[in-house]
Amino acid sequence: MITRKAYAKINLALDVLGKYPNGYHEVKMVMQTINLCDVLRFEEFDCSEEASLEEKIRLIGDGCGELSLGTDNLIFKAAAALESAFPKGKGVEITLEKNIPVAAGMAGGSTDCAATLHGINELFDLRLTDEQLCEKGVKLGADVPYCVVGGTMLAEGIGEKLTKLPDAPELCLVVAKPEMGVSTKYVYEHLDAYDNPPHPDVDGMIKAIEAADKNAVAEKLGNILETVTVPACPEVACIKEILTKQGADGVLMSGSGPTVFSIFFDEAKAAEAVEILRNDSSAKFVCLTNICRGEQ
Ligand code: ATP
Repeated sequence: MITRKAYAKINLALDVLGKYPNGYHEVKMVMQTINLCDVLRFEEFDCSEEASLEEKIRLIGDGCGELSLGTDNLIFKAAAALESAFPKGKGVEITLEKNIPVAAGMAGGSTDCAATLHGINELFDLRLTDEQLCEKGVKLGADVPYCVVGGTMLAEGIGEKLTKLPDAPELCLVVAKPEMGVSTKYVYEHLDAYDNPPHPDVDGMIKAIEAADKNAVAEKLGNILETVTVPACPEVACIKEILTKQGADGVLMSGSGPTVFSIFFDEAKAAEAVEILRNDSSAKFVCLTNICRGEQ
């Protein structure tokens, strides 16, 4: 049996530069893995060579709530993308322990997808490189290649062109998500209606990371998608206000939202902010975590 942790991400900076003719948006983002993860277990079983895809790939969930565990789950899709390479007469049973909130802007689906590519690669000793896993992954989601490699990365193109950055400085984070989820598609579609929304300083964020300057990292946080999600989900502004009042050194929405994260240089203040948010109706999910540094 193989166990893999599928880490959530936040965007320290997220800009949208334009739109490709195929409708995809051109992005420029600084991605960062955080210490909040789903756990996936992979176990092989014997089955007939003629077994269907649904018979060869079993998905079992724990704490998955409303999330579908059918063929539309990205874990199933990732396993299906590797099925032709399974050893003859073998299937895989995957158990998902879901801890990352769904439709939250933390790449919960993409990270499970990437963990499945890695997990099956290891389980069946397929010897695929990260590059090959990224090629398979990008067909399943623009954030999947990033989740295959993780760490601190600049993501460009549709999110699949990755450039490794130095590890971001060690930072304590408070992460909070309102009850509602937000669809990534909705947010990107609505962004097009805004005339020249404020662009974050992504290059400034890269410089801050290269200089290992945590004050500058906190200062350069920026996400163009707040333009759409904040009016659509008033709890985002509410959570941001609470965190700022509690002394956060930087506060930002992650991805398309509605999850908000904040940087605290003072861990005691962060713990207090968690307590306040746990007793506030604006946030349904609250956790104290930090940035993941080095290899996952
Ligand atoms: P991103 O930050 O990459 O935009 P997100 O955090 O906003 O992603 P996800 O949690 O990945 O959103 O969920 C987006 C949709 O993907 C959900 O509505 C869900 O139906 C679908 N999905 C499929 N498989 C999974 C999975 N294993 N975990 C979470 N969502 C999944």
